[in-house]
Amino acid sequence: MSRLPSLYNKTVVTTAIGVIVISTITLSYLSYRYTIGRANLVEATLVQSNNTLIDQSISRIEQKIIDNDAVLYNMIDVNDPSDWPAAADAVKKADLNVDQVWFLQPNGRPLYFPRADARTAHAFRRGFLDKVRELNLEALHADEANHLHREKGDDYFFATYVIKESRKGERILICFQMSFDRTIALINRYLKELERTHYVSIVDFENNAVYGRPVESNRYFYERRFPTTFYKWILQSIPRNYTELERDEKNQRRMFVVLIVLSMFLTFLSLAVIYLGGRRERQLVQLKEDFIANVSHELKTPLSLIGMFSEILISGRVKDDCTRSEYFGIIQNESDRMSRLINNLLDFASLERGVRRRNFQATNLARLVKRELEAYRYQIEKEGFTLVTDLAESAPETLADPTALGLAFYNLLDNSLKYSGEHKEIQVRVAQSNGFIDLAVSDRGLGIPHAEHAQIFEKFYRGSSSAVQKTRGNGIGLAITKQIAEMHGGEVRVDSEPGQGSTFTLRIPIRQTSLEETSGADSDR
Ligand code: ADP
Repeated sequence: MSRLPSLYNKTVVTTAIGVIVISTITLSYLSYRYTIGRANLVEATLVQSNNTLIDQSISRIEQKIIDNDAVLYNMIDVNDPSDWPAAADAVKKADLNVDQVWFLQPNGRPLYFPRADARTAHAFRRGFLDKVRELNLEALHADEANHLHREKGDDYFFATYVIKESRKGERILICFQMSFDRTIALINRYLKELERTHYVSIVDFENNAVYGRPVESNRYFYERRFPTTFYKWILQSIPRNYTELERDEKNQRRMFVVLIVLSMFLTFLSLAVIYLGGRRERQLVQLKEDFIANVSHELKTPLSLIGMFSEILISGRVKDDCTRSEYFGIIQNESDRMSRLINNLLDFASLERGVRRRNFQATNLARLVKRELEAYRYQIEKEGFTLVTDLAESAPETLADPTALGLAFYNLLDNSLKYSGEHKEIQVRVAQSNGFIDLAVSDRGLGIPHAEHAQIFEKFYRGSSSAVQKTRGNGIGLAITKQIAEMHGGEVRVDSEPGQGSTFTLRIPIRQTSLEETSGADSDR
C-alpha cells in the first residue's frame, strides 16, 4: 500500500499549512522591510548628492570672496599715505565689488576717508564706525582677513577689513565696503549652474528673501549658512524635479506593497485550494466507505430473507399451500429487489467509467412507465400505499433508451416508497409540455431541506436526517437518474419542502424518431 495516506494525516496537513502561512508572512514582512530600506537608502544617497552640490556652491562663493580679499589687500601700500587716494580709486575701479575704501586707526579714528556719496558714507557709519567697539579691532592680527555682515536693518552692510602694519610699525585698519548689488551679481554668476537643476534662494535669519524666492520646505529641502563671509545669510534649495522624485518614490513603494500583497494572496489562495481539495478527497473516501457498508447491508437483507424462507420450504414444515405460495412470493420479491439493486450498481459503474452503451429507440414514456408500474403495483399496494397515476399515452414517442429510463423511474419510485413515512400516497404523472416529456413522481413524505436540494444528486450523498440514515440506501439512485436525464439531453428537478413531501421531475426533450439514432435492436416498447 502507498505510504501517502499517512502523510495526509490531518495534523500533518494543518502543521504544514501553518508553517507555510508563517513563513510566507515572515518572508513578506522581511522583503517589505528590505525594499523600504533600499528605497530609503536610494533616497538618502540622492539627498546626500544634492546637499554636496549645494555645499560646493557655497564653498566656491566663499572662496571667491576670500581670493578677492587677498587681491584687495595687496593693492594698498600703507607706508605712503599720499598714495591712498589713488589706490582707493584703483580698487573701486577694479572688478572686485568694492564701493569704498576707508583708512582708520584700530580705535576707529579716521586716517583717510575718501569723498563718498551720502548713502555709502551713511551705511559705513551705521554699519561699521558706530559699532567699532564691538569689533574689538585692537586684538586683530595684522594681515588677517575679516568680514563684517549686518542684518536687514543695516541693508546687509558687508565689508572685508584688515590690519596692516607700516614699516614704522603703525597699525592701519583698511575697510573695504562692498557693493550689495555687485555682490548679488557675483553670487548669481556662481549659482547659475546650480539653478539649472535646483530652485535656489538666499534668505536671512528672519526668512526675508535676499536672492530668489524662498523655496518651500519638503524632504528634499536643504539649507546651509555661509560660514565666514555672508554669515547672516542662508542658502536654501530643492531639486527642480522634486515632485517627480516624490511621485516615483511613492509609486515604487506602492508597487512593492501591491506585489507583496498579491504574492501573499496567491500563496494563501493556493493553500486554500490544496486544503479544500484534500478535504474533498477525504470526504469522498468517507462516502465510498459508507457506500460499501450500505450496499453490503442492502444485499444482506434480501439474501437472509431468501435463505430463511427457502430453508423453511425445503424442510417441508409448511403444509399449507397458501402459506407456501406466500413464501415463494417473498423469495421472488426479494430476489427481484436484489437484481434491481445489482442492476443499479452495474449501471452506476458503467456510467462512472463512461462506457454505457446507448440504446436509443422510439419510446412512448407513458407506456413504459405503465408497464414498470404493473411490475411494482402489488408491492406498492401491499405496503399500504395509494397510487394515483396520470399517464398521457397519447404524447409523442421520443428517441430514448428505455432500459435506462426504466431504471431512472424505478429509482424515483423507490425513493418515494422509502421516504414517505406515514403519508403513504404516491402520484406518478407523464405529460407533454412545450417539446418536452415530463415524468413526475410525487410523495407526501419526509421532504428535503432546501440546503440539500443540490447535494442529493451527488454520488454517494445521503440525507443527513436520522429518518434517512435509518432507511436502507446507498446514495447513488439520484446520481444515476441525473446522468440518465443528461444522457437524453434533459434534467431532473426537485421540488420539496421538509415535512410536506417531494416531487421529482425527469424532463427530456422530444426527439423525432426519424433521426434514427438507434444503436440497439431490442425493442422495449
Ligand atoms: P439513497 O436513497 O440510496 O440514499 P439517492 O441518491 O436515491 O440515495 O437519494 C439521495 C438522498 O436524497 C436520499 O438519501 C434522501 O435524503 C434524499 N431523497 C431522495 N428522494 C427523496 C424523497 N422522495 N423524499 C425525501 N428525500 C429523498
